[in-house]
Amino acid sequence: IKMAADGDDKRTPDEKKLFELVEKGTNEAVIAHVKATKVKVDCLDTKGMTPLQLAAFRGNKELCEFFLSNGADVNSSHHENSYSALMFAALSGKKEVTRLMLEAGANVNHVNSVNRTATQMAAFVGQHQCVSVINNFFPKEEIEYYTKPQGLEKEAKLPVTISPFLCTLINFTNLHPVKISLFIQAHPQILIDHKKVCLVLSRLVEKNMKSRETNDVLAIKCHFISTVIKLAAEAREKDKDNSLNGWIKKLIRGRDEDGFLEFQERLIRQSIKEFPYASSALLQQLVRQIAPVKIGSEPTALSLLIAAVNGQQFAWDSFEGCDTCGEPKAAAKCSKCKMAVYCNQECQRLHWSTHKKQCPKLAEQYKEKEQREKEEQQRKAEEEKQKEEEKRQEDEEIENGTESKLEDKPEHEHETSDCCCHPPTHVIGELDGGKELSEEQPVGGDAGKKNNDDKNGDTKVLCEGKDSQQRREASKCDDEKASDKVCCEKGDNQGCIIES
Ligand SMILES: [Zn+2]
Ligand SMILES: [Zn+2]
Ligand SMILES: [Zn+2]
Repeated sequence: IKMAADGDDKRTPDEKKLFELVEKGTNEAVIAHVKATKVKVDCLDTKGMTPLQLAAFRGNKELCEFFLSNGADVNSSHHENSYSALMFAALSGKKEVTRLMLEAGANVNHVNSVNRTATQMAAFVGQHQCVSVINNFFPKEEIEYYTKPQGLEKEAKLPVTISPFLCTLINFTNLHPVKISLFIQAHPQILIDHKKVCLVLSRLVEKNMKSRETNDVLAIKCHFISTVIKLAAEAREKDKDNSLNGWIKKLIRGRDEDGFLEFQERLIRQSIKEFPYASSALLQQLVRQIAPVKIGSEPTALSLLIAAVNGQQFAWDSFEGCDTCGEPKAAAKCSKCKMAVYCNQECQRLHWSTHKKQCPKLAEQYKEKEQREKEEQQRKAEEEKQKEEEKRQEDEEIENGTESKLEDKPEHEHETSDCCCHPPTHVIGELDGGKELSEEQPVGGDAGKKNNDDKNGDTKVLCEGKDSQQRREASKCDDEKASDKVCCEKGDNQGCIIES
């Protein structure tokens, strides 16, 4: 069966191959193909999508980097629904890919054909981390302004070499003081020129609080980063080896009795207290949240600060973060207690001097937790057994004709969530209550797989009529039966059984 779209496919064979490889091939194959054929990296598929947009939608950071460094236009807008690469990245849920598009100069105000921005689209599908990445993005031009002498200045406020690092720092979503300190340790120029850096940060605070459109998120962020840089620089100057090791140790050192990071807690509270614009609504909210919490109790000032500047969702996600620097998705565990988690060995090494006091206690807790989980599993297995027994009895009754349960079984044979009967545009279409976008075509390969929340779910699926075949093609239905046979095409919403 030929795809309907094939008729107006004006792509060259090389271009067609490029899209196929981005969709299904390895990154190496894509890169080799582009290099060998010199195919245009901004070519368009039948829906006006560029290879960069497809790679962004698939959350493939390496390919996005490759296309961008080979001249792909991050703001290409030939897609039939005016989706941008930033929108596809945000929909993919990949923070790094979203950030990459922003760094490449993606226009955050671009709207699609129904007037939605990338943040609105991402928020709708629940990609809150991507929303926060976009909302918090600080463009490098804002910093570059300070690298040129302004007015009567003989010298610029900020050395050019520092500006990219400072920009990265301001774009951090994780404001953990250890994370900030590790970053400035790796970029010591920030420490050497800390007076200039802190001056620029205070200018940014002022600018964002005094301009007509105040941005207290950015202002509080810059203020806090400036506090950490100032204290770290002072600690470094006092240190006899001129290093930050002592400072970082101090940040990590927990209280003897419970390991609570009292120094960090007091530092963050003090910094918030010193924010110069008392009228800021965000500051007042923070103070209201922090004031009633006793030092040593939850929530910590850090978690409240991170939630305030990133939105609630991020704070929740980072709860399971590295015990040293707070980075989310910390995968390495302390082998002794299996409770402490870290990004890597470096973070574990830094934490050990304080963790070793808590490790045996945590190991106890872990054993208890394991025991509880074991019991829970046994209980569940027991329940499962009982259910099976009940079901067996029911089945027997049905066989004996005492009761019929076959009536409400759906007639439809393909019930997987990515089957042809769930149009892959579902998730996008719902953005607008399913009205304006209901005619929309699929946006990309796996869009249909986001259909998990479909209320009809696995219980009842209705035939979509003659479009089903096309949708099945587009959604790459995994259902074997669906792949080589045709839908009934009745379109009468009576449910369809696949016929050959
Ligand atoms: Zn870490
Ligand atoms: Zn441990
Ligand atoms: Zn069907």
